[in-house]
Amino acid sequence: MTQLLDITALTKQFGGLTAVNKVSFSVNAGEIVALLGPNGSGKTTLLNMISGALQATSGTVALEGDIISGLPPNGIAHKGVSRTFQLVKILPSLSVAENIIAALAFRPQPLWGRGARDQAEVLLDRVGLGGRGDEHADELTYIDQKRMELARALASEPRLLLLDEWLSGLNPTELRVGIDLILSLRQSGMTIVLVEHIMEAVRALCTRSVVMNVGSKIADGPTADVLSDAGVIAAYLGD
Ligand code: ADP
Repeated sequence: MTQLLDITALTKQFGGLTAVNKVSFSVNAGEIVALLGPNGSGKTTLLNMISGALQATSGTVALEGDIISGLPPNGIAHKGVSRTFQLVKILPSLSVAENIIAALAFRPQPLWGRGARDQAEVLLDRVGLGGRGDEHADELTYIDQKRMELARALASEPRLLLLDEWLSGLNPTELRVGIDLILSLRQSGMTIVLVEHIMEAVRALCTRSVVMNVGSKIADGPTADVLSDAGVIAAYLGD
């Protein structure tokens, strides 16, 4: 299997606090890996260092052997890393299609005009919003806003997709739909790292899980093994 993402001794200090402490792990192309851990364990900080929103204090992030840490966020996006946010970020006054077209304009090879409209339709189809491009973004239901946000993240044709609690806030029926949508991305070969609190989703989606506690990696392996690991259970109970 080809290794896509390689994180080595990644560290982030905020003043005297070490939020992420020499964390190393790698992700193969086509894998969905969960980043787990109790609140405050460093998951968001780690995701922010991968996407470039935060600069690492030390350590490296490489994509197919190419070091991307140190690049600005748009440089990292151009290398093929895309993300969704914990709180849905949409352009509420625009239509659904315009939200996607705006994202297409930020690609390394921007798409405009007819090409952008056609590609927006392809992306909307891919997330289950086919034919709904003319609707107002702020009138979408929550799951549909999430779908749109995913289409925006896919607009850059990423090699690596980072999902930050993308499934949170969904009701059980919507959750099933959301899980199936992520599974369809995996079937198309997408590599995904996700931070997720919903264990049902983690079990259904993630072949492998990496667990953080107080900034350090405490487990890394097949999801079922990791979730039954005594050290992992103790870390969560201490939350
Ligand atoms: P998680 O996502 O696992 O809940 P975070 O990465 O948000 O954890 O936080 C890890 C630690 O870093 C926490 O102690 C948090 O208070 C601290 N932290 C996060 N962001 C900042 C920041 N911008 N400045 C100072 N401390 C931060």
